[in-house]
Amino acid sequence: MIVVLGGGPAGRIASIRLASAGKDVRLIERGGIGGQCLHFGCMPVCALNDVARFIHSARTFHNLGIIDTVPDINFSTIFSEMHAIQEKIASVLDTETRSAGVNIIYGKTGRLEGKKVFAGEEQMDADAVIAATGSRPNIPDIEGIDLKGVYTPHTLFGMKEHPKKLVIIGGSVMAAEFAYIFCMFGSEVTIISRSTFLKNTDKHLRALAIKELEGVEIREDTSIQSISGRSHIHSVRVRADDKDDVIDADAVLIAAGLVPRSEMLNGVKKGSIGEVIVDRRMQTSVPDVYACGDVIGPPYLTPVARYQGIIAADNILGKPRTMDMQYIPQSINLAHELAFCTPETEGAASLAIPGPAGPGTFWSVPSGETGLAKVMVDPDSGALLGICAAGPGGGLIAGYMAFLMKRHFSVHDFEEFIEVHPSTDGIYGLLKYTSDMLKKRSGN
Ligand SMILES: Cc1cc2nc3c(=O)[nH]c(=O)nc-3n(C[C@H](O)[C@H](O)[C@H](O)COP(=O)(O)OP(=O)(O)OC[C@H]3O[C@@H](n4cnc5c(N)ncnc54)[C@H](O)[C@@H]3O)c2cc1C
Repeated sequence: MIVVLGGGPAGRIASIRLASAGKDVRLIERGGIGGQCLHFGCMPVCALNDVARFIHSARTFHNLGIIDTVPDINFSTIFSEMHAIQEKIASVLDTETRSAGVNIIYGKTGRLEGKKVFAGEEQMDADAVIAATGSRPNIPDIEGIDLKGVYTPHTLFGMKEHPKKLVIIGGSVMAAEFAYIFCMFGSEVTIISRSTFLKNTDKHLRALAIKELEGVEIREDTSIQSISGRSHIHSVRVRADDKDDVIDADAVLIAAGLVPRSEMLNGVKKGSIGEVIVDRRMQTSVPDVYACGDVIGPPYLTPVARYQGIIAADNILGKPRTMDMQYIPQSINLAHELAFCTPETEGAASLAIPGPAGPGTFWSVPSGETGLAKVMVDPDSGALLGICAAGPGGGLIAGYMAFLMKRHFSVHDFEEFIEVHPSTDGIYGLLKYTSDMLKKRSGN
């Protein structure tokens, strides 16, 4: 028997892989199947962002005189309708997982003591174990952080109405995405970022993100000293440099990243933030105990968690495989999908252009909000080293481009490429143009 702890993207996909190969698999999930991705992360953000983009488009059409009014949102209905759809998706995932032959045990907390594994108090007789217990929101140590009115992505859905003034703690993708959503919902949003906002993001993409967050106040290199109020918050004390100032707020959202959820995994080697240490086969320090997904630390992405789940399962099945973490596409979802894959861009030559007019951007031409396309190449060989594709469909483009980079494609390979038009196809033209430029430069 193989025991899998956690039914999020990593554990669920690993379980299906193992059961499909004929193994007896017990998947222990203490909450809902689908993990954070379905219940608190990707799907809720996607649901809220769809509404936010709808409001954004309505404003654009209203400004152009095409429609008379911008509709009001019914905040609590968004959450109730969203929950109904999440339940439906959970039921599909449950059916799919059971149909593959996985035995799901709900409502029990799994625990590991070296190679011994427990579901609640019951010890299970396992030949191998996969720990896929995921992560949880990182909660900074700030006075008043437990006041009513302070939310995390896990508790946000208890919010009854959208706040007039919202403070978001954090400076990464999660903070940016929630800021866009609440700004479009009509909240006055302030982001408090301890360091540079979106600090490890490509500079063109970062500038575009800041433009798309027009209306959001972004305070960088700033920390929150305290959150105050009696039963409910009313203000946030902020310190930047040596100054102390106070922001009025009726809600605070903590979007300060994630930390591995590994406290019930004992006997395996862990790192400084509690991440379970694994080798490239996803094997922990204990033989026959594997770990995958957020519990092994960043980048905290669903496709990475799924991929790691498959690697762990294949190794258990005796098919040795290792994880390659170099070409990981990602996206910051604001007005557009600000997607990118920039694994190794040192020494690269880069070219960036605004996104073209097309589906989803035609009406944004007057405001200049058409996104961007950027390619990074080795100027000598033309090898593709990185791309940014910000616009409708950017996520799809970045996924495929990451795959082609992994296959060592160069810009010259795109000479034969025929794109669909109209689409947000700026990147393909840019790749061909870059190929021409490099050839002219080398006299070919
Ligand atoms: C707000 C937010 C937005 C995000 N947006 C994106 C995005 O746009 N794109 C993207 O790729 N990723 C995104 N993520 C990250 C993504 O959700 C995670 O990377 C992914 O869910 C990790 O999968 P996992 O299976 O490793 O862990 P989780 O999804 O955390 O699943 C772990 C599961 O284990 C269960 N569990 C925990 N402990 C135990 C135990 N002891 N016993 C039994 N069960 C247990 C939990 O209930 C949970 O179901 C986002 C996350 C958040 C919070």
